[in-house]
Amino acid sequence: MKNICYLILLLTFISINGCAVNPVTGKQDLVLMSEQSEIALGRKTNKEVLQQYIVYDNPELQAYVNEVGQKLAMNSHRNNLIYRFTVLDSKDVNAFALPGGYIFITRGLMAYLNSEAELAAVLGHEIGHVTARHSVRQYSAAQLTGIGTALASIFIPGMNQASNQLMQVMGTAFLRGYGREHELEADKLGAEYVARTNYDTESMLDVIRVLKNQETFETQRAKSEGREPRIYHGLFSTHPDHDTRLQEIVEYASKYQSQTGSRKGREEYLNKIDGLIFGDSPQQGITRGNNFYHKQLDISIAFPEKWNITNLPDKLIITAPQGVATQQILLEDLNKRISPREFMIQRLGLKTLTNDKPLKINGLEAHTGIATINTGNGKRAARFTVIYFNNQAYILVGVTKDPKAMSHYDAAFMETARSFHQMTQNERLLAKPLRLKIVNSSNETNFKSLAQQSPLEKYQEEQLRLLNGLYPQGKASSKALLKIIN
Ligand SMILES: [Zn+2]
Repeated sequence: MKNICYLILLLTFISINGCAVNPVTGKQDLVLMSEQSEIALGRKTNKEVLQQYIVYDNPELQAYVNEVGQKLAMNSHRNNLIYRFTVLDSKDVNAFALPGGYIFITRGLMAYLNSEAELAAVLGHEIGHVTARHSVRQYSAAQLTGIGTALASIFIPGMNQASNQLMQVMGTAFLRGYGREHELEADKLGAEYVARTNYDTESMLDVIRVLKNQETFETQRAKSEGREPRIYHGLFSTHPDHDTRLQEIVEYASKYQSQTGSRKGREEYLNKIDGLIFGDSPQQGITRGNNFYHKQLDISIAFPEKWNITNLPDKLIITAPQGVATQQILLEDLNKRISPREFMIQRLGLKTLTNDKPLKINGLEAHTGIATINTGNGKRAARFTVIYFNNQAYILVGVTKDPKAMSHYDAAFMETARSFHQMTQNERLLAKPLRLKIVNSSNETNFKSLAQQSPLEKYQEEQLRLLNGLYPQGKASSKALLKIIN
């Protein structure tokens, strides 16, 4: 008995500290993790993803994406794994893979794709990250060097920032990809799986063109709005001469393409995404002009004109142009009856509250005050307002980049806090999401007139063109399917 235990221990020791064979290259790799631990890590991290994101509520679309993904996974280097493909209810343009075969794509990215083969290209790329064990390799490297990849510094004392594990596994890959070499490898593997599954490998080029254009546009727009762009890391984006490498990879992959012909599946795909929510979803709150409505929470907030709103799963961030001031709105459950002032001191740990006073905001109990906190730019005086509504505490925190600017922006922070109220009947009607609609184009169809009829608030023509792969110019071919927003 003792000996067996010893043997197991020894084997565990080897698999933890030794080299593992890379499933793709067949070579020895410095991976500190067995396949079983990899699957366990994936399972654990998956739970954290599902705490951060909402699964898109459309079983038919989920089944469709899963079906396409499973076909690709069957043709991959690790078809022994159990793969799970999930569409996330997020307007962000993103897709990512966790260790062990958990693959996610956002509806925000799906809106920009124009065929089943393009969907396959994205899923194939992510499967490539799994089969080449990129996140595991990254995780191992981080463990070896002892680099913690804690992403967000703790903004408010006493507030717990979850998802440590998620950040450790994904690290910056979650935001920026795995770096050039791993991205190229995933692209190459993805192209191969796309070809083996009889999808048209040219779709790799189409999807990159669409995403590159979306990225260019989004980066410019984000800059003018003073916020971080929402862009997908993957597919050649890290490579400077991507066009040449792309051609090479597509050519390489075409040798796996069957002679019986390859498929694009444009109509199938477009029909599947007909009605897809575009932009904000009612589950997470909807921005109209400079108002924010959240149907489930039953709240409405107005933020200053020209400020930009970023809606994250755990907080709202409202940013002044050029990022000179920012206000975050967070939500905490009230598990026992304490006053908003006590909440600030006990739950938020604000021991040095100054200039504080109780408030009534549109009939709701609240408290406001100034406290010094650590921010990414150093110590800052921050305006805190806590508002009680429906057994929950809404925490508003306003800070400025330049400490001297606080006296100027404090009024705006207070104005946002004072706008907080329960939704009115009229606002409930406004809080409806936008959706993709698939229509047939005619000879007369042009983007200018489509843009004029569109309910999009800004950049109507650009956005419609991007969605249809006809940016910055190009004419819709007549009698073709076209995406519009309604
Ligand atoms: Zn990637």
